[in-house]
Amino acid sequence: MSKSKEITVPDKLKGYTQVRLDVDLATGKIEESVIDPEFCRDWIGGYGFGAKVLWDELEPGIDPLSEDNILVWAIGPFPTTILPTSSKYGLFAKSPLTGMFGMSISSGSVGAQARRAGVNMIVFRGKAPEPVYFVVDDDDRYLKPCKETLWGKGCWDTEETLREEFSDQRLAVMAIGPAGERMSRIACITNDRNRQAGRTGMGAVMGSKNLKAIAFRGTKGTKVAKPAEFYKKAKKLLDVATGSATSKYRDLGTPAGLRSYNDLGMMPTYNHREGTWEKIDDNLITGEHLNEEWVVKTVACTDCPIACDHLARVPKTHSDYPNLVSSVDIELCYSFGTACGNDDWPTIFKCIELCDNLGIDGISGGVTAAMACELFEEGLITKKDLGYELPWGSTKNLVRFTREMILGEGFAGEIFGDGTRLAGKRLEKLGRENASFYGMNIKGLEMPAFDLHGMTSFAVGESVSIRGACHLRNGAYSLDRDGKFDRFAYDKPLERGKSIMGKEDGYTIIDCFIICKFTRGIYESDAELAEVYELVTGIPMTEEYLMKRAEAITNLSKCFNIREGWTRNDDHPPEKCFKTAHTKGPAKGVSLDEKGYQKLLTGYYKARGWDEETGIPTDEKLKELGLDFVIGNLKPKGGKK
Ligand code: SF4
Repeated sequence: MSKSKEITVPDKLKGYTQVRLDVDLATGKIEESVIDPEFCRDWIGGYGFGAKVLWDELEPGIDPLSEDNILVWAIGPFPTTILPTSSKYGLFAKSPLTGMFGMSISSGSVGAQARRAGVNMIVFRGKAPEPVYFVVDDDDRYLKPCKETLWGKGCWDTEETLREEFSDQRLAVMAIGPAGERMSRIACITNDRNRQAGRTGMGAVMGSKNLKAIAFRGTKGTKVAKPAEFYKKAKKLLDVATGSATSKYRDLGTPAGLRSYNDLGMMPTYNHREGTWEKIDDNLITGEHLNEEWVVKTVACTDCPIACDHLARVPKTHSDYPNLVSSVDIELCYSFGTACGNDDWPTIFKCIELCDNLGIDGISGGVTAAMACELFEEGLITKKDLGYELPWGSTKNLVRFTREMILGEGFAGEIFGDGTRLAGKRLEKLGRENASFYGMNIKGLEMPAFDLHGMTSFAVGESVSIRGACHLRNGAYSLDRDGKFDRFAYDKPLERGKSIMGKEDGYTIIDCFIICKFTRGIYESDAELAEVYELVTGIPMTEEYLMKRAEAITNLSKCFNIREGWTRNDDHPPEKCFKTAHTKGPAKGVSLDEKGYQKLLTGYYKARGWDEETGIPTDEKLKELGLDFVIGNLKPKGGKK
């Protein structure tokens, strides 16, 4: 593609439906409008749509669990086009967990059914006077009360009940469980039973609006701009997607990474005290063992040739969880396994089932449970508090704790039911000094399965992520994993900063399109992403323009955070990474160095063209990115509630 190609927009786009619905939950009014072609070109879809709408339409400083929050649901131009892994959707709101930009992305059948029903974006406002669910059934769009029929049910039961009501097993249903109803700040949304929009508490936002579920069913076709060329390109991508680039996800699922990250000392165990575990060395908690002993089936989302979802089944002879079936991901092997010092697979499966069905994010839930285990070991919480013991390696008591945490019951629910940050604050109020030290979160969002002690590049990448600790907002872990930089050193701050920025903006495009991060390796370059976009939408696109828009979208969501009160101190790993060192493995004796970390953080800000001291985008940078409307509007108004 030529660099100088004009980015003009055709009158009628393909791929996008350009249909926006505005749903006022308080009045029940539903309005349909057309999304401008220029808006589609500049904000691309998914994450970009969410970032622009939240900046433009959300009042700064509002309480995220109040009726003032708005919830944006969006897809990109690709669902149902046969582009691999394109049936995805995103949710965006001010996060009740972080008080900043909230976003969560899920797969399954929702993106495809919504596209067939003809919608691109839905904006929910206000609070329904009683529990309701929202239906998009082709051109039928309506709210229906569900206090008697669905409220109180688990996510799975809600999905099954609605599918029965519609006599259609293909109905795509996004539902919250009891955790979302009680507005737990770590509540998720479940769809297709095993797929979750988990991170940043979007389930709590649905609960705060009395919105129990959203259901989609559609029959409309999709047209692409250049069918023959797109078919050829998509076929090539499908061939690559069924080859070696994605084989580890197909063969072992994401738990394939347990062994490799353990070998590098990056697999967090015992709530990030260590980065290796002998249970992995002994092949007890590995992807290989999981698949040999427990996995019975693999499942794919709509339009996905990879099928990374590995379902494990507990035998009918098991005394506690007979016939239990759970969808197992590496993040949950970490959160309820390695982080809790727990090597009992059925316990991990049961905790996953509780999170998915009753509706909390399994990463936040498990990392909060790991915090509780460490606090128990340290004597900061006791058997008298909980009513039971909770040392490392707990099994039945870990399940009991998890259920109580999700449902908000007992000491576990009251203290830990909203994640690690609030748990620390609540315990400190009770006089349990320094309890927050054990909460492994960044900006309030619990950390994913990477231990930062020996990962200096990702320490920055994970900390600057606009939604809090996240490996899906910034893929800079690969810089440490693949040896692009010395992962124990603090050199080359600007060079690293540029690489971290590149990883972050690359993921921004993926989250705008929206496609699965597991397929990022099937594209030869960003130019191929631009080409696919053009073939589907008919909008002439270049790699340069696409990446500039990615930079603009990352900047705009950063500006959202600044407007909500973000400061440089928010871009910081947990203190534990600085004050404790691993006792074994490749990162033995290593902890992060504050001075070195700050040097790398400044390098990242510099690479971004932001003020090096404050980390705030300069007016020049905002102008360069076409974000002039932000200038003069960055002052916090309340914020971070
Ligand atoms: S790679 Fe996994 S999560 Fe992504 S679309 Fe395929 S099955 Fe779904």
